[in-house]
Amino acid sequence: MNPIYMDHAATTPTDQRVVEAMLPYFGEIYGNPSSLHGFGQEARAAVEAARAEIARFLGAKPTEIVFTSGGTESDNFAIKGTAWAKRKRGNHIITSAIEHHAVLESCRFLEKEGFRVTYLPVDGDGLVAPADVAGAITDQTILISIMHANNEIGTIQPIAEIGRIAKEKGIGFHTDAVQTFGHLPINVDELNIDLLSASAHKLYGPKGIGLLYIRKGTKLTPLMHGGDQENGRRASTQNVPGIVGFAKAAELAAASMHEEMARLTSLRDRLIRGLFERLDGIRLNGHPTRRLPNNINLSVESIEGEGIILSLDMMGIACSTGSACTSSSLEPSHCLLAIGLPHELSHGSIRFSLGKQTREGDIDAVLEALPQVVGRLRAMSPLYDQKNLKEREESR
Ligand SMILES: *Cc1c(COP(=O)(O)O)cnc(C)c1O
Repeated sequence: MNPIYMDHAATTPTDQRVVEAMLPYFGEIYGNPSSLHGFGQEARAAVEAARAEIARFLGAKPTEIVFTSGGTESDNFAIKGTAWAKRKRGNHIITSAIEHHAVLESCRFLEKEGFRVTYLPVDGDGLVAPADVAGAITDQTILISIMHANNEIGTIQPIAEIGRIAKEKGIGFHTDAVQTFGHLPINVDELNIDLLSASAHKLYGPKGIGLLYIRKGTKLTPLMHGGDQENGRRASTQNVPGIVGFAKAAELAAASMHEEMARLTSLRDRLIRGLFERLDGIRLNGHPTRRLPNNINLSVESIEGEGIILSLDMMGIACSTGSACTSSSLEPSHCLLAIGLPHELSHGSIRFSLGKQTREGDIDAVLEALPQVVGRLRAMSPLYDQKNLKEREESR
């Protein structure tokens, strides 16, 4: 059996057409975009064409796009860059409890520097309430950072409403759109976004290239000091092949987005429905409808997520316990704790994230494999025995 990859939220394979678009920029058009000679100018032209393509995709101006090394750098830049640029105006940042670690750890770092951070709670479906955002604003608030969609549980946040609140109060609004850029339509004006993070490797582009959209007039202190690349916002010679590949990936994503959203939603719902028909003691985490078209996050009672992942891997199915960043630690996921799951359920969580190559046959393979794996692991689980025993006693 061909292995089945269902971990697209962690990363995606680079599309062959993206690889081909990148290839000339290694050995043929290798100039430094900052050089004045023809070699450099050719590379610069490619970078600027890519910037224009990506800007158009967001409804932004090319000068508002800064290329970075990925989503993590973009999140760090948006948060630390704003904090440092605006520390005279205020010292308060609002974010949510279920942000990616790149946002949360940047905030924790700033707390050590004297900034104050409000980590808003989420409801049982993982939604941030816009009223909570409004209620947390003080005259010291300089930034609101709420992700577009969550990478673990797939919940899509009401960022249009949050953006409106931020705009009314004149506070900068950042969104981590790494899981949605290239997957859902995004227009930075309609959503009132001032800062937006994206990363190419989550949309079939190469790893190590990302962007931060920075609305004109938004003040940010750079993280990287050196040359005046990227309009002085990020020093270092541009990753020309990466930038070209990012733009190609965005172009391909735009061309098939609506079709792909509908196709994935139908595959997602087929998998969810099928699993609920075949398994008891499972729970769908995240919002039932306001969720990424490719995300399925389940808690399975009485067994450990790691055991399920490893068993499925042996059967040729790759999925994850949550985020790639936390899957090597035994700590329960901060997202699952934030939606109020008890520890025992948050340990038994698994995430399937579908992608371009996913077909109905792959969904059916999971529908066959997962109940077998769960049955086998539960048969060995003392937790499951105790629970059944208790239920049998109660029904007597
Ligand atoms: C993957 C991811 C990141 C990190 O992006 P990198 O390019 O891997 O640094 C940040 N935020 C979210 C929501 C992600 O899914």
